[in-house]
Amino acid sequence: MKFEKVALPYATDALEPVISKQTVELHYGKHHQAYVDNLNKLVVDTKFADADLETVVKESDGAIFNNAGQIYNHNLYFTSFKKGGGGEPQGALAEAINNQYGSFDKFKEEFNAAGTSVFGSGWVWLAKDASGKLSIEKESNAGNPITKGLTPILGFDVWEHSYYLDYQNRRADHLKELWKIIDWDVVSARY
Ligand code: MN
Repeated sequence: MKFEKVALPYATDALEPVISKQTVELHYGKHHQAYVDNLNKLVVDTKFADADLETVVKESDGAIFNNAGQIYNHNLYFTSFKKGGGGEPQGALAEAINNQYGSFDKFKEEFNAAGTSVFGSGWVWLAKDASGKLSIEKESNAGNPITKGLTPILGFDVWEHSYYLDYQNRRADHLKELWKIIDWDVVSARY
């Protein structure tokens, strides 16, 4: 199987000013592409040569896991946004967030705090278990909740490459802004 990155569902300048065109071009066009190119080389003549991406993420380690995890993570990340996004989740996801965190604002606060406190490169995830219970998961590097048997719903990339051009060292400011571009139709459907 040849691994590919997801098609970007918006123009590279669509997320401005929250994420600049330059950051999208580098992050999607260079970083994400590099993970895809690396994985396609790494799986040649391994048991993962014909596996689907989710299987590779769940069953690999080392360099194959790092690149497969990052493809999976970035495919999810880049499809979570849209021009003029924001607002609040709808339907069952909104209900689950309110039940578990008290309100959408309290959830955002907790999620932002978790993302801000990831040490070094990584991700903060909203995930659900088989019963629909939500959790906020902090992961290092290419980590993803699917390796713990959870389903990822929303992930914010806290690697410096995702925000440094636009926010320099102000990761917390970047995370606060991201809520303005979430495509809640897509994200709510993952619940
Ligand atoms: Mn990234």
